[in-house]
Amino acid sequence: MAAPDSPARISTAISGFTRTFADALTPLTVPWRSADAPDPTLLVLNEQLAESLGLEVEALRSDDGIAILSGAAAPADATPVATAYSGHQFGGYTPLLGDGRALLLGELVDTHGTRIDLQLKGSGPTPFSRGGDGFAVTGPMLREYLVSEAMNALGIPTTRSLSVVATGRGVQRNGIEPGAVLARVAASHLRVGTFEYAARNTDLVQPLADYAITRHYPELSEMPETGGGNRYLKFFEAVLERQAQLLSDWMLVGFVHGVMNTDNTTISGETIDYGPCAFIDAFDPSAVFSSIDHGGRYAFGNQPVVLKWNLARFAETLLPLVGPNPDEAIAAATAALTTFDTRYDRHFMAGMSAKIGLSEAFTDPELIDDLLTLMKEHRADWTTTFRALADDLRGDDVPIASAVPREHIGPWLERWRSSLQRIGRPPQRTAEAMDRVNPLYIPRNHQVDAALRAATDGDMEPFERLLEAVTRPYERRTELAHYAAPAPQAFSDSFQTFCGT
Ligand code: AMP
Ligand code: MG
Repeated sequence: MAAPDSPARISTAISGFTRTFADALTPLTVPWRSADAPDPTLLVLNEQLAESLGLEVEALRSDDGIAILSGAAAPADATPVATAYSGHQFGGYTPLLGDGRALLLGELVDTHGTRIDLQLKGSGPTPFSRGGDGFAVTGPMLREYLVSEAMNALGIPTTRSLSVVATGRGVQRNGIEPGAVLARVAASHLRVGTFEYAARNTDLVQPLADYAITRHYPELSEMPETGGGNRYLKFFEAVLERQAQLLSDWMLVGFVHGVMNTDNTTISGETIDYGPCAFIDAFDPSAVFSSIDHGGRYAFGNQPVVLKWNLARFAETLLPLVGPNPDEAIAAATAALTTFDTRYDRHFMAGMSAKIGLSEAFTDPELIDDLLTLMKEHRADWTTTFRALADDLRGDDVPIASAVPREHIGPWLERWRSSLQRIGRPPQRTAEAMDRVNPLYIPRNHQVDAALRAATDGDMEPFERLLEAVTRPYERRTELAHYAAPAPQAFSDSFQTFCGT
């Protein structure tokens, strides 16, 4: 497949692109061009993010800027590429995935000196499109924008969203829907799937690992390649640690990724690819929202186990670098992988302790487990329950009783208060500390759904208001009270999300 000639246009509205990945690992990339956008309209621009990337907001809002963000024009100093990767999807291996509807424009260095990728998603067919059309539509791209920015505001490592542009192209989905392009910012787009592809098809695993180390774990660059302090084993452990922290972050806010394939597991430790993701309302470890996850492989409570499975696939690609003796390499990688559970538990217990006002030093695993059991039994709303506990400390015991009936939560509350007393902090201060880690506003499915429906019909206002709520998630604003409320029961019971649209 030869690179298409369009777009003919070149723009200088954004500049400063470099291409360290495409230069270091050329065989993992294909230079490519985006499809034209017949009538581009900027739907949303992340001005703060633009500024942190050293990009001029005015320039991005100009016709030339919008042309770049839509793929209709290419930045003069960029060489857009589609990248190759493989992946285990729902447990089965697909030898070649790759950017089927995305292009890496290149890398920029932000105002903190950090190198980031700027990628267009929905920018047209590539050699990796397989049966797909290469395009995306407004609903799912606005969804990724909203949820990724909400995750960032919750302090969770994630790719960010710079803009969504409607292209003016009609795209076949449920009937014809408005086409859109998302501009995505990521620490990098290196995935476990990138290593799986390199390990099976190239001799580039070592340069790929060295590139990833330099970019994401530079403190390991000086480690020896072999021996006890093996750099690549340390690299594996470093990714393991970041992913254990990430998974704990997800579980603490009730986030269900929905499609945790190995191509959607990053080496940087960022959340990536907001397809069929959702936040739980009622606490239910078996919650599944994705329309294609029939077996519940990626159910809420399964996520840490699945991530560990994905990391085992990652470890397999690194074995030849871990040591010359395969048995010893497997033993070393397995020993490292085994530490995932304790790493994850440590992060999760520390996070849960903070959510109920206990410090890590005074944590009480049994108390935490018992609360989770009560919440599960009574299908308590995950997000509001922790705010209700803080209200209880302030003397308002109504909200917690509506999460779990008083006769059931009463004994637990007594145990909790005596646990808090051991710390000796005034209840008011504990309640404030809890409010700083327990969000009020998350992108609740019913709200996201309503906002995206309106946006698809041309009304961006509900989207903008919801974005305003979820990007300052801890700050109570009375005019936004309805965004903090759980979904109506009928909605929660039937809600489904759809993948890859
Ligand atoms: P995802 O489920 O978004 O992680 O995507 C899995 C794979 O499918 C990736 O290789 C994507 O590039 C590809 N893909 C998803 N949607 C499309 C589409 N509309 N056209 C072409 N490729 C697609
Ligand atoms: Mg993906």
